[in-house]
Amino acid sequence: MASIFSKIVAGEIPCYKVAETESCFAFLDINPVQKGHVLCIPKKEVDYLFDLDEQLYGELTQFARRVAQSIKKVCPCQKVGVAVLGLEVPHAHIHLIPLQNEGDMNFHNHVKLTEEEFKQLAAELAANFE
Ligand code: AMP
Repeated sequence: MASIFSKIVAGEIPCYKVAETESCFAFLDINPVQKGHVLCIPKKEVDYLFDLDEQLYGELTQFARRVAQSIKKVCPCQKVGVAVLGLEVPHAHIHLIPLQNEGDMNFHNHVKLTEEEFKQLAAELAANFE
């Protein structure tokens, strides 16, 4: 059965899309730990990040770098933090989270955004993706 993220890539489940390349896709995390929390995934469904073949792993990390540059422009932050968990969704993904301080990378803490805020944020990130 396809993962929830494969369904997002296929357009079967809605998301707040941020960016896309031939092999990778980025969208807002639906339960963000900070405003600007983005997930970067390979379109190909592979559970564990470090099981990706070298080429796709390279494409995903380069894609995540470009997405992080967009987050840095749009979201007030010192740096964009990177995390890999993968304990909930068995489809490799890189979490990108704007950070002002160390405590901002806390997966037990969540921020609430309205539908409009999600939409506007995704549009701004998409517009700044280079
Ligand atoms: P983990 O697999 O532990 O890295 O966590 C999966 C992440 O995916 C969590 O931060 C969820 O909030 C996020 N997530 C799960 N379903 C969706 C969805 N449909 N759209 C956006 N983010 C999601």
